[in-house]
Amino acid sequence: MRPRVRRSSECARALWLLGLQPPVERDELARAWKARVARTHPDLHLSSEQRSEAATVLTRALNDARDTVAAWIDTGREWPQPAMGAVRPVPRPAAAEPAPQPATICSRTGLRAGDRVRVWPYDGDPVPVRGTEVGDGVVWVLLEGGKAEQSNRVRLAAYGCPVCGACEGPVDARLLTRPCGDCLRDLRRLEQRPAEAGRIRSAIEARSEAGRATARGLGSDWLESRAAERCRWARRLHVAGPDDLHAALLGAFTRAFEQWAA
Ligand SMILES: [Zn+2]
Repeated sequence: MRPRVRRSSECARALWLLGLQPPVERDELARAWKARVARTHPDLHLSSEQRSEAATVLTRALNDARDTVAAWIDTGREWPQPAMGAVRPVPRPAAAEPAPQPATICSRTGLRAGDRVRVWPYDGDPVPVRGTEVGDGVVWVLLEGGKAEQSNRVRLAAYGCPVCGACEGPVDARLLTRPCGDCLRDLRRLEQRPAEAGRIRSAIEARSEAGRATARGLGSDWLESRAAERCRWARRLHVAGPDDLHAALLGAFTRAFEQWAA
């Protein structure tokens, strides 16, 4: 079977996803692929069903990118520059991000011990989570102080989403950087129904606008500038073709996922 001819835009996206600068040698490609896949490999993430699914999607994308660059090396063609088509890579905010807290993530709620949540109607102080438990088909979130709440009545507090800029206070040293639940659901939709990439982009833009308003209310310049940056990013993608849009969304999820898995 003759290998299919790959387009230069496809190679440019693959280089971008793997973080490679051309010209690329085989061993360099192998190293870059290995380093990225080591962080997203599904086996590493069995503690969380949601995370494991995300890892599977990303591993597949990285494998695909590797095959594309390997095929390019074989052809000896002129290298394209790493790019996302119409979309230029966006520098990340310079401010240092708070370190994530290592603990097992509950596959049902996406919460882990030490996270802080607000309980419905979400106007009280954030309470630390001790763990989760299932009883009579209901997922309970165990809270510090001995109380328990149904998982659909708690909302993660003190986090900022690196994909869409959604955020929640309070802004303090324990503020987490992690993908929000909506972005995790969007990643699964993107895998199952690639044709929905446009709708996913619009939803991210809407969340980034809401995130800006929330950050302003919290008085956090850092969260606000990240939400604003995510908003500009999502708007620029409005003009991207379907392939570029798909790759750009996947790239953003990849980075967010790496930070969360750290
Ligand atoms: Zn998000």
